[in-house]
Amino acid sequence: MARINLNVPFSEKDEAKQLGARWDATLKVWFVPDGVDFSAFGRWLPTVPDVNIRSQRYGIAQTETVCWKCDELTRVYGFVLPPGHQTVEQDEDGVDEWYEHDSSAMALYVTDLPPTVIARLKLITRHYYVDFSKTTNSSYWMNHCENCGMKQGDFAIYCEPGGAFFPMDEYATSKISLQSVHEPFCCNGDAAYGGLFEDN
Ligand SMILES: [Zn+2]
Repeated sequence: MARINLNVPFSEKDEAKQLGARWDATLKVWFVPDGVDFSAFGRWLPTVPDVNIRSQRYGIAQTETVCWKCDELTRVYGFVLPPGHQTVEQDEDGVDEWYEHDSSAMALYVTDLPPTVIARLKLITRHYYVDFSKTTNSSYWMNHCENCGMKQGDFAIYCEPGGAFFPMDEYATSKISLQSVHEPFCCNGDAAYGGLFEDN
């Protein structure tokens, strides 16, 4: 069995050590050595990402929008979930189950992206990163203006008719480009089925 790395805050390191955790000076991480019962380390065990959207492949959409702050055009980006993607939905008994969709959607209010997806994003833009939203009172992966750095929140982009990924005419639709990525995708977030894909 592979050794288990722990997320130990600095202030709790002595406690972890007392319970038998060891320090890996190279990786700068506390871990549970082989043969030590890890049940005592519960609160430091790595959490499974809280994922409710997954897909075998995905797309990164790009378009332009006018920044609400500086009035300049800026590129914005979003994740496209192709047909066959799955979301966690509650069945009639209230139990969470993966449900497969046969239409496309876009993911918004995205958190918990895997490193492979983050690496793809970093190749494309440095203006899409986790930031705090007063609208949702939470942090998520968010677009920022390329000119002034201001947040371009998901509500305006996905939920307001005429938003960057909620085009209201053919011209606005034609400005949206899509880069397909043949790699798995997962995240926590909402899936928007209206807007861009209404006619599909
Ligand atoms: Zn701006």
